[in-house]
Amino acid sequence: MDDAFAVSYDDIVAARGRISGAAHRTPVLTSSTADARAGGTLLFKCENFQRMGAFKFRGAFNALSRFTGEQKAAGVVTFSSGNHAQAVALSAKLLGIRAVVVMPGDAPAAKVAAARGYGAEIRFYDRRTEDREALGAQLAAEQGLTLIPPYDHPDVMAGQGTCAAELIEDAGPLDLLLTPLGGGGLLSGCAVAARALCPDCEIYGVEPEAGDDGRQSFRCGRIITTATPQTIADGAQTTHLGRFTFPVIRGLVKDILTVSDAELAQTMRFFAERMKIVVEPTGCLAAAAVFAGRVDLAGRRAGVVLSGGNVDLEKYADLLR
Ligand SMILES: *Cc1c(COP(=O)(O)O)cnc(C)c1O
Repeated sequence: MDDAFAVSYDDIVAARGRISGAAHRTPVLTSSTADARAGGTLLFKCENFQRMGAFKFRGAFNALSRFTGEQKAAGVVTFSSGNHAQAVALSAKLLGIRAVVVMPGDAPAAKVAAARGYGAEIRFYDRRTEDREALGAQLAAEQGLTLIPPYDHPDVMAGQGTCAAELIEDAGPLDLLLTPLGGGGLLSGCAVAARALCPDCEIYGVEPEAGDDGRQSFRCGRIITTATPQTIADGAQTTHLGRFTFPVIRGLVKDILTVSDAELAQTMRFFAERMKIVVEPTGCLAAAAVFAGRVDLAGRRAGVVLSGGNVDLEKYADLLR
């Protein structure tokens, strides 16, 4: 079955080899309070402790590591204002590659500064009049740069899959695996890993309620595009799944669940108060579904990916209140 997909388990094994030494092997944390609240055993894969603060380092580093000498000499371009931009910028710096990041002119100063801090060049665009994907493609064509998109790329997906492979290796077999879902790089990669390592595991993706394009697409069997959702889960404000990620999700995932912003905020608070960890709103998606009782956990072991911890502290404090 895997043969039909853009990513195989072998690709994930190869990605693990490439990222080892560069990426952190993040911890798997447990909490008896969380277990009591959810009614099952929860194994949290803490990508908030990953380099640059999110799992996206895995996919970006894997993709850039595969560049040919010619590609390395020319550089990489990406369009993102979030964690993927930082992941590409840091990976490029570590590998000695020039990076150009296309960001909206109104991107938060902290995000611009973070990408610049890793040595990336920023190319601003106007959200109202310019299309970031077209601009990325144009820069790639003009300057010979290689475009690495945030999720719809086999090397990115394989890199993200290393997260579930490590989780299952460290935590043992799982009955369920839940990950946040934006464009589906994380979910598709993790699904391929989980299917290979514990074939009976039920796999779920979790989206913000306001942006349930993934669930709509999953249910009707084709990629549905929606307007940019208004949600505190800024890492999942994608409008559609990808042409590589969708078939994997459709083929391996049991269901797509949704949670509200209020449920995300409560979950953030739980992690701060009880487990002493900072998890960004998007990073709380899978855990929020578990705490809200969206899946049956009685007597079962669930792997829950906490995908990142990058949140502006002022905003974080507001959300906790
Ligand atoms: C990008 C991102 C996601 C969504 O990942 P996709 O591969 O687009 O589905 C989830 N959480 C965090 C923290 C992210 O940065």
